[in-house]
Amino acid sequence: MPMPLTLNTSNRPYVGRFAPSPSGALHFGSLIAALGSYLRARSLGGQWLIRIEDIDPPREIKGAADDILRTLEAYGLEWDGAVLYQSQRTEAYQAQIDSLLAQNKAYFCQCSRKQIQAMGGIYDGRCHRLLQAHTFGAVRIVNTAQVQEFDDNLMGHICVDTPFAAEDFIIKRSDGLYAYQLAVVLDDAYQGITEVVRGCDLIEASCRQLSLYQTFGLTAPEWLHLPLACLTPGFKLSKQNHAQAIDKQHPQASLNAALAFLGQRRVEQHACAAKMLEQAVDQFQLSTIPQQSEILIEP
Ligand code: GLU
Repeated sequence: MPMPLTLNTSNRPYVGRFAPSPSGALHFGSLIAALGSYLRARSLGGQWLIRIEDIDPPREIKGAADDILRTLEAYGLEWDGAVLYQSQRTEAYQAQIDSLLAQNKAYFCQCSRKQIQAMGGIYDGRCHRLLQAHTFGAVRIVNTAQVQEFDDNLMGHICVDTPFAAEDFIIKRSDGLYAYQLAVVLDDAYQGITEVVRGCDLIEASCRQLSLYQTFGLTAPEWLHLPLACLTPGFKLSKQNHAQAIDKQHPQASLNAALAFLGQRRVEQHACAAKMLEQAVDQFQLSTIPQQSEILIEP
């Protein structure tokens, strides 16, 4: 039986976003997330923002952020306002960490990967129980909220394992880099995002993010996770497995392929991609997006 699909129920005007990491060019998988979030936002008359998640320099490819923006433009995916770069937001991340540490809502941990593996892969909180607390290392949240379930606007009710939901996860890495979970929550709140639309690979991460919203006393967005494009079961198309960059010169074919992937009707081929998107926005139907976490595609 199909799930009832809810629309945004909050009173806030709809604000959506696409938040790519500049670790390579846009590929078909990231086009799905960009297009899905764009169509959802525009079909509800909402705003669509861009955030470049550039807080992991070792994984960053020089020039990728600009290339991603030029590709979005070539696909007619016009965003509202200025692009937010996470690299400009580190003061806010550090201020949050300092405040959590001062309130004993976070703590330093020096356990190695090997030690955590020996705990069964889920951290057991031992550094929080030390009589003499560490003063450096990775920073972990004291996860009192332990959110285990939520309702996804496409995938329905989502429930994760108790140990995963209860873990004191890392919010700042031992190498000094801010963790994705911390940055994404602070920035989605800062940008006033009302619904996060992204790939299903991050569906479980939403529980961790909801735990942070509760701990920080911030209003959480709604969630809508899209199916992932996979070449083989369990392996999403990604920059890591060398997914091909989408064609900036000829966006028409990829646009229609991405629409078909999202269960949407084809649009008329047009020299101007923005024109094609107009029709796609008019035709957009949430209820025809497949409620599957992954869909196999041809290489
Ligand atoms: N930056 C993440 C990525 O490129 C997406 C994060 C998100 O949408 O929450 O996979």
